[in-house]
Amino acid sequence: MDAASVFGPRPARRMNAVQPSPTIAITRLSNELRRAGEDIIGLSQGEPDFDTPRHIIEAAKAAMDAGQTRYTDVDGTPELKRAIIAKFRRENGIAYEHDQISVGTGGKQVLYNAFFATLDEGDEVIIPAPYWVSYPDMVRLAGGVPVTVPCGGEDGFLLTAASLRNAITSKTKWLILNSPSNPTGAGYSAACLRSLADVLLEFPHVMVMTDDMYEHIRYDGWEFATIAAVEPRLKDRTLTVNGVSKAYSMTGWRIGYAGGPSWLIKAMATIQSQSTTNPSSVSQAAAVAALTGPLDFLAERNAVFQARRDLCLNGFNSIEGLSCLKPDGAFYLFPSCAGMIGRKRSDGRSIESDADFATWLIEDAGVAVVPGSAFGLTPYFRISFATSTQRLEAAMERIAKACSKLI
Ligand code: PLP
Repeated sequence: MDAASVFGPRPARRMNAVQPSPTIAITRLSNELRRAGEDIIGLSQGEPDFDTPRHIIEAAKAAMDAGQTRYTDVDGTPELKRAIIAKFRRENGIAYEHDQISVGTGGKQVLYNAFFATLDEGDEVIIPAPYWVSYPDMVRLAGGVPVTVPCGGEDGFLLTAASLRNAITSKTKWLILNSPSNPTGAGYSAACLRSLADVLLEFPHVMVMTDDMYEHIRYDGWEFATIAAVEPRLKDRTLTVNGVSKAYSMTGWRIGYAGGPSWLIKAMATIQSQSTTNPSSVSQAAAVAALTGPLDFLAERNAVFQARRDLCLNGFNSIEGLSCLKPDGAFYLFPSCAGMIGRKRSDGRSIESDADFATWLIEDAGVAVVPGSAFGLTPYFRISFATSTQRLEAAMERIAKACSKLI
């Protein structure tokens, strides 16, 4: 090794911990094809296509006019914390105090703060797979070890009590739950959470991070439950994470929050105080309006999402070689493409993996999806149906036509 590579400018060793995203290849290919004039339908974006409700935007304008444009308390204004405490009480039946609430720049920062505040080198975090792409990298960056537990379609993509028990070691620090899930839309019922809670009660050193970001986007009357409410004895070691991004179509406002034990909330504020300080003052005022305002728009939007879910679900299940479970919530489908593996494209190349399937789908059908390998479970792929019904209809038609050509 020469001197320059030892002493010259180079990224930190911790960068080796971060995996290059498996979605990069698909994004690059989409962009190339778009530049070449192709009409690519992107179904990879995890963001509602609705606008932020008017009353929330008005509250943000009023906050700016009233001079709420300065630093705030690091982990949230008292008004927002009050609104969050009321939300947890009203919607989840969990009683948190002011010093048990943390607000960050998106749910992502809240999760990140929690890992940085708690993980020592080698601490293990149990992550049921398929998982939201950011969890393992966040854990690695914080010095922890992601322990992924495969939860296949046969278990409805949900962690079972037996697999949880098998995955726990003396080094386990956290279990992450995400319900309804990105990427599958599968949700844990109160009864499922009860069976996981029974295992967790036997292991007092394990904490639970529950990512409830999609709580309000749910279908067919499915009832949302969260573990600190199902088993109050776990409340002191549970971080209940939520945010306004998905339910209120506020992805760009960057507000996420959590309720948890005060020692953890305090440590998370210390981390945040040395990175971004407080989340945007204007966005916090908007989040107060979101959490204290009307929720009637949710039913209308969920009805639109549900119709789109059914459109795509029926579409996938009528294509020979694909099969898809019905999601309880969120705005994703996670079909299995096991029946397509080994088939041949018209150019004679064979499809060996879900990554090959996604590449072929974009080349042949002009539809961009994310391969299941990005979420830690193969052979599947994820689509987001948070896009216009017209685009979804066109995408499903293209996918069906392309799949009929595979031999
Ligand atoms: N958790 C899950 C499961 C998500 O899908 C996302 C966003 O895609 C987040 C957390 C982060 O949300 P936010 O926009 O609040 O950072």
